[in-house]
Amino acid sequence: MFIQRLVIIGVGLIGGSLASVLRQRAACGEIVGCGRSVENLQTAVQLGVIDRYETNPAAAVADADMVVISVPLGEFASIFRAIRDHVPENVILTDVGSAKACVVNDARAELPPALLSRFVAGHPIAGTEKSGVTAAFPELFENRKVILTPTEETDEHACAQVQAMWETAGAEVVSMPVEHHDEVLAATSHLPHVLAYSLVDTLARMDERVEVFQFAAGGFRDFTRIASSHPKMWHDICLANRDAVLSVLEQFNQDLAVLAKALEQGDSEQILTIFNRAKAARDSFCG
Ligand code: NAP
Repeated sequence: MFIQRLVIIGVGLIGGSLASVLRQRAACGEIVGCGRSVENLQTAVQLGVIDRYETNPAAAVADADMVVISVPLGEFASIFRAIRDHVPENVILTDVGSAKACVVNDARAELPPALLSRFVAGHPIAGTEKSGVTAAFPELFENRKVILTPTEETDEHACAQVQAMWETAGAEVVSMPVEHHDEVLAATSHLPHVLAYSLVDTLARMDERVEVFQFAAGGFRDFTRIASSHPKMWHDICLANRDAVLSVLEQFNQDLAVLAKALEQGDSEQILTIFNRAKAARDSFCG
């Protein structure tokens, strides 16, 4: 696959990594970046991630063949509004947002039908707790999954082009309905982030916090790494996927109450049952 002009709106960890790998694999002609901070965009040019930049999304998408939106979820509606009258007729539009119903709703509200049909909602299941273009690296998507959530409006050719782009980036592409994506990701990604932020916040507000963090070892680091993720990005994700996150959080609260009761009652059998089941599940998943 070859993209003559690729436009990345939001040249951070995800957008920058995608630009880097497509450049490395000679899959693009020109790569244009777009963002608000000139400093980040200048760094992106210096690092060779993009060729040039615009701070105005409407100007950035001129003559684009493929536009990838890689900004926090709360920014999507304004980006769709800013570019819809300025993209070329045959452009393909896609995104990398971590929740999909909100993005598809914004697209339906803001894009004209012809452009909506060439919008392919997507989500790479890859990332780190770092953000900005300096955190980007071309191997990020290697052997990772990318979920596409085409809708009844989505054009098959556009979908195939977006799939080819991600396969060129080293990813395995799967498709699923929007609602299923949001339920699955609420459980596997959004809930763990909520728990990590909440745990670290609780510990940070304990009176003996200096001692708490002084004696924190590998387990604490492993469990809480994702609490270093970009707060605004995760604020947007949790609110965008609020219903699914609340539903899985409720289930988690019930299970935690069962464990707390077992501890209170010194119920070794129950505690060991839960711990053994969790260890077996994780060992088999991490294989
Ligand atoms: P990031 O490193 O913070 O990058 C986001 C970029 O968007 C920044 O460079 C920011 O630059 C730019 N931006 C923000 N608002 C903008 C606006 N209104 N117009 C133009 N540019 C704007 O974040 P990221 O981790 O790459 O996340 C980007 C998207 O990927 C999010 O939708 C997130 O849900 C999704 N995602 C993230 C991960 C992950 O693990 N991080 C994984 C999968 C998907 P300026 O501030 O200079 O504008």
